[in-house]
Amino acid sequence: MATSSCRVLMVYPTFDAESFWNYAEVCKLAGARYPAAPLGLITVAALLPPTWDIRLVNRNTMDLTAADLAWCDMVMTGGMLNQQADALEVIALAKRHHKPVIVGGPDVTSSPHLYGAADFRVLGEAEGIIDTFVAAWEAGTRSGVFEAEKFQVDVTQAPLPRFDLLKFDQYLYIGVQYSRGCPFTCEFCDIIELYGRVPRTKTTPQMLAELDRLYELGYRGHVDFVDDNLIGNKKALKQFLPELALWLEARDYPYEFSTEASINLSDDSELLELMRRANFFAVFVGIESPDPATLVQTKKKQNTRRDLATSIHKIYSAGMFVTAGFILGFDNESESVADAMVELIEDAAIPVCMVGLLYALPNTQLTRRLAREGRLHPNHDVVPGGDQCTRGLNFDPIRPLRDILDDYKTILARVFDPVAYARRLDRLTTLLDRSRRPHDLPMGDLRRKFSSIEGVHRIVSQLPETREPFWQTFVHCAKTNPAALRYIVMLMALYLHLGPYARHVIGSIERRIAVLDRECAPLLPGTVEPFAAGIAGSA
Ligand code: SF4
Repeated sequence: MATSSCRVLMVYPTFDAESFWNYAEVCKLAGARYPAAPLGLITVAALLPPTWDIRLVNRNTMDLTAADLAWCDMVMTGGMLNQQADALEVIALAKRHHKPVIVGGPDVTSSPHLYGAADFRVLGEAEGIIDTFVAAWEAGTRSGVFEAEKFQVDVTQAPLPRFDLLKFDQYLYIGVQYSRGCPFTCEFCDIIELYGRVPRTKTTPQMLAELDRLYELGYRGHVDFVDDNLIGNKKALKQFLPELALWLEARDYPYEFSTEASINLSDDSELLELMRRANFFAVFVGIESPDPATLVQTKKKQNTRRDLATSIHKIYSAGMFVTAGFILGFDNESESVADAMVELIEDAAIPVCMVGLLYALPNTQLTRRLAREGRLHPNHDVVPGGDQCTRGLNFDPIRPLRDILDDYKTILARVFDPVAYARRLDRLTTLLDRSRRPHDLPMGDLRRKFSSIEGVHRIVSQLPETREPFWQTFVHCAKTNPAALRYIVMLMALYLHLGPYARHVIGSIERRIAVLDRECAPLLPGTVEPFAAGIAGSA
């Protein structure tokens, strides 16, 4: 291990300001600056030699200054697809300041050719390659590509992330990671390409040490298990969760947890009960489509042969609310998909639904198939901004594009109508069983700032169209299921972002349709306006 000194400026690029996930208004309500902290960078920071000096700048929460750049010996950056535009900007900035720049993370791993301007590209899981990079740097190497062997990192050896580099009050929640990889085969998914299909889990002592560290540093509140599928290795998880529950009990429940899981969670009553005891309150589930044939075609078979709404209700009965992902634009989608999707969302009573357009992510089974079929758009892996809501369908779909976009508009308008949203919250009130979870939110939890009657006042005064339906739901919940009230109010707060964002996306889709209509219209004599070159770049 190196003993020399080096000043490392770690820069976390911005996500696009227009995103389903940034919950900007909720952050304002809670006094935070961004929902999530940069877990990847603080994990890499823990892998660097202890003699190296590290400064972290998260461009989502603070400015990167000329003084920061002047201070450092090297810049480390990188992130996900939706950070690509700013990651490239950070690389350019570093180069203008004559600083060597190292880029790593999922997007450069999937699309290394886009990051040729960086001096070093570190591909794959950092634990598998960072020592090699450090040794090369120490030996005087000033450029290169370092690639970890795929899926070989032993996460039981992963270091304790440098939580001390974070300013906790800037975030709605702090992330930890238990496992990497997922056993399923969804065609559009890049997780199985990046982390493999055999989930690798940390040990129980290792996870509890991470929580101990957060606790020592004074953090209280919402902790998100960032795993792409927490239940990928159920056997290991069932050993960990009881220990987690004991850890929480001994400290009077300083944390509440959220995560992502596949829908087969609902088939396992034992696991649901263990998650209830370990204070999980929310789970993101990828539902994708109401149509079993579509789910089979996209290799999401775990979502078939079940009543999806009943599965979601089972999770509600274990005290966790579900947020869900849905996708439009699959190859064998039927004409009736809009009605079927809205009906499923209503039946399942899922308030927060991320409905997006199918996006062919770099280096996935889907992208390889579309390339073979000649349907991928040029520059399909370049993301100048937006998210899959505004920039999805980076390929030629089978259904007419206009029909898909029309259906998309219809779904968003119906699902994010304030009355429909409140109606789903109202149904959730009857389904969410929080009766065996008496713990209050810990002191210091930012959510205390809006999980109250004052919070509802602030929400409805910001969005007057929510006033009547939200107050009705609030009163109904207060009377019939008070234990669920703060979660219902939390979900109302999310509407502060989701309602306006859905309207923004609808506007963007309408502009995309207008371009499409102009392209399809016959040229009239005297028409001289040059038409946009392609739908993919027109939103
Ligand atoms: S269940 Fe989720 S993480 Fe697993 S392969 Fe499917 S989309 Fe990817």
